[in-house]
This record gives sequence, structure tokens and C-alpha cells, in this order.
Amino acid sequence: MLNKRKYQFWFATGSQDLYGEETLAVVADHSRIIVDELNKGGVLPFEIVLKPTLIDSGSIRRLFNEANNDQNCAGVITWMHTFSPGKSWIAGLQEYRKPLLHFHTQFNRDIPYQSINMDFMNTNQSAHGDREYGHIVSRMGIERKVIVGYWEDKRVQEQIASWMITAIGLVESRKLRLVRVGDNMRNVAVTEGDKVEAQIKFGWEIDAYNITDIAEYVDQVSESDIKDLVDVYYDSYEVLLEGRDEKEFRDHVAVQAAIELGFERFLVEKNYHAIVTNFEMLSGLKQLPGLAIQRLMSKGYGFGAEGDWKTAAMVRLMKLMTQDIKDAKGSSFMEDYTYSFTPGREGILQAHMLEVCPTIADGPIGIKVNPLSMGNREDPARLVFTSKPGRGVAVSLIDLGTRFRLLVNEVECLKQDTPMPKLPVASAFWRPEPNLHIGAEAWILAGGAHHTAFSYDLTAKQMCDWAEGMGIEAVLISKDTSIRELKNELKWNALAYR
Ligand code: MN
Repeated sequence: MLNKRKYQFWFATGSQDLYGEETLAVVADHSRIIVDELNKGGVLPFEIVLKPTLIDSGSIRRLFNEANNDQNCAGVITWMHTFSPGKSWIAGLQEYRKPLLHFHTQFNRDIPYQSINMDFMNTNQSAHGDREYGHIVSRMGIERKVIVGYWEDKRVQEQIASWMITAIGLVESRKLRLVRVGDNMRNVAVTEGDKVEAQIKFGWEIDAYNITDIAEYVDQVSESDIKDLVDVYYDSYEVLLEGRDEKEFRDHVAVQAAIELGFERFLVEKNYHAIVTNFEMLSGLKQLPGLAIQRLMSKGYGFGAEGDWKTAAMVRLMKLMTQDIKDAKGSSFMEDYTYSFTPGREGILQAHMLEVCPTIADGPIGIKVNPLSMGNREDPARLVFTSKPGRGVAVSLIDLGTRFRLLVNEVECLKQDTPMPKLPVASAFWRPEPNLHIGAEAWILAGGAHHTAFSYDLTAKQMCDWAEGMGIEAVLISKDTSIRELKNELKWNALAYR
């Protein structure tokens, strides 16, 4: 379901014919060696494809248009080995629409003091050529990432790897299709937003269906399919009856199996990658989708509760951005629920009514059937667990009326070692950076929602780069956040993003 694609990144070297064929041959040779070594290094999650050296406006324009139209190309990495006049990049850059990396590196690490002469200087002058190129990209106001350093340096390669993940988020955003089978929860402000503007900015197609349309798919799931999936659940998770009748419990679980299968068939048939529900609008569904939604999220679908399509789309993008990460720890829809002000263990207990993705679970996962304290449906089955300890990032995309803002908070999930026997939902417990007090104050001042998209496997830098790549404001709350500086940033940004 994650639409696994063989992403590639193109490597474009800038030069010109002023230096003669011999120099151009050296340039091409150097680029080939760099690309080969980067591909062999094992640090980059995706392949880099070497393209012929670009020496004039025509070749540059052609390359960028080919990149636009290539299904697998997720971005172009540019490097000016020698001097490449900025004007020759204008036409190509104007037409280019995918992520752009300016890799400011140099073939040689050291200055060859004994042998250096003017030929060497003219051939190895990215310090010079990359400034000319950087100037024209800045002048044209084009978003790009700049990474500086020696190409063999592992830290530099890790920065490229990190940018590649952001680039996947940028290119995939343009393909995201989301279905709403429930409007925003009545009277709630922060989950609202301008869906037309979201399509213009992010490329998201956001469609509405009646809940009855998807409920028909649930009704059509066969008894045998339901039974098979319930068997999978019983094999995969620990059944926590807690005094309920075994048969009645299984019947409740079976309702979620039907919802999982029906919803998934609807999503696949109509090609949607993310979904929102609303517990106030369930029509023919017997239970609020709980376990079903948790399972769909773990398969890579985006989800937002109470009609929150902005968070659903961000969860989907996080799923796509992290799908190639080895030993990924998980990503989920999440909600700030209740605080611990206990000295030394300040933090926020994260959960939702039901819908937390089991990819973030630490240890065994249980199934429970419990009453929902809201709404008027039968007791829904849900997966319960606590989450892994470790660092992660929580983001909230908000609509300020005239523009979008992405709040990005570095958080640290703490081990949940005190049992909460009466809490029938999955949860995480995290401490926001720089601490609960400043982190929560900054979040509130910046207008962040109670819903977030959370991932262990992405960094604040990647999410801020994603926002910048989309041309929207990113507000970072990190260990360096001071309230005074944040307030100024918000004021200045109000002018900058007018
Ligand atoms: Mn909620």
C-alpha cells in the first residue's frame, strides 16, 4: 500500500567549455568517482544517477525537464565543479519542480601544496563556481538545501541521506489523496483548514464521502474473511478479556475486522492513502473504527481523528518518508492528553480515544474491548500498548487563515514503567524539548494543535526542511528555544509570510 517506488536522485555537475576538452574530461571523471563512491558507501538510502556534465543553458534546461518527467527521480543534486555562469541556469531552474540539493563539495580534500598551479586552480574551483550558482538560485528565490563538506566525510553523506528522506516527503506530497468520511468535529477550530489552499500548496486531493458509502463496503465483507482476520488478530495480539464473555468479546473484535477489510477495500479501489473519521458521524458503523484504524495506520495509511485531515496527511507523509529506514521505530497519529507535573518526570501523556499506531509499541500488544466514553455505539475493540522510549519529532500543521504553519517539536519518549491498569488505550509519554514548561508555552504561543503526527525515525531538521520546501513557515521548538526569541520569530514570520 505504501506505493513503494525505486527512488533515484540525479547528480548534475556544472561547468562550461572555456577550459577545453581535457578539463571537461577531468570534471566528468571526478563526478563519476564521487557518485560511484557515494553509491557504494552504504550511507545513502537511495541510488544517485550520474548525468553528463552541464555546460550551457540548453543542456541544463533539458536535464531539469527530464527530471520533472521521470517517475523515479525524487530530486536533483547540483555541484559546480568549475565555474558555471549563473545565467545559464535560469531557464532550467525556472522550469524545475522537484527537490533541489546544492552539494557544495570539492573533489580533493587537501590542497596539494607541492604541485598546485593555475591549471589545478582552474579545474578545482567549486569554492568559486558554487558561489555563482548559489547566487542565481537565491536571486530567483528558489527553495533548495545546501550541504557543505568533503564528499567522503561520513557526516556529510549522512546529511545527504537525511535530505533524501525530506525529498521523498516533498515529491510524495504531490500525490497524496485523502478521504474524509466525517467532517471536522463540531465547534473544533484547529482541525479546520482551507482544503483548496492545501491542494495548491501541498498537492493534497481531499475528497468527502458519506460514511454510508464506506459502511457499504464494511457490510459486504464476507463472514469467512472476517473470521480469517480475527484469527490473525488472535495470533498476533494478547487477548485481554478482563472479565468479558469470550464469545461476546470475539464478536466485538469481529466488527473491527470487518471495518478494517471494508475500509481497506474502499481505500484501494478509490486510490486513497489517508482517511479521517469522526466519532459523531458513524451512521451504519457499529463501532468507532479503533483496532481497524490502528491496523490501517501500521500498513502505511495516514489517519486523523475528528475529521483532522491535516494531521492525517502528515501521518501519511511520515509513513512514506520512513518506509525505507532500516529498523524504523514507528510513526503515529497522536494527541496531547494529560500532564505529569511530577518533579523530575514532567511530560505529556499521549494517547487517543483509540487510534494510536501499533508500529510505536514497546513489547507485546493487547486487544481490549471497552466502552467509549463518548458517542453512542457499542464498545469498540482496540489495541493497547505503551510506546518505545527514545527521541522523536511531533508536528502540527495549522491553518492561520491566510497561510499554513508547521510546528515542529523535538520530543523524548520516556519508558512507561508504571502500569495504568484502568487505561484502555495505547499511549506514549514524552517530554517536549527544551522542557515541559517552555515546550508547552512555545507550542501554545505558536497556535499548535492537540493532534500531532509523530515519528521516532524523522528529525526536526527534516520536517523543517519539508515545510521550507513547501514554501510554508516552520516553527521549531527544540532544546535551543527561548520564549523571547520565539515570540519575535512569530512576529517577524507574520510579516515574511504575509
Ligand atoms: Mn482527538
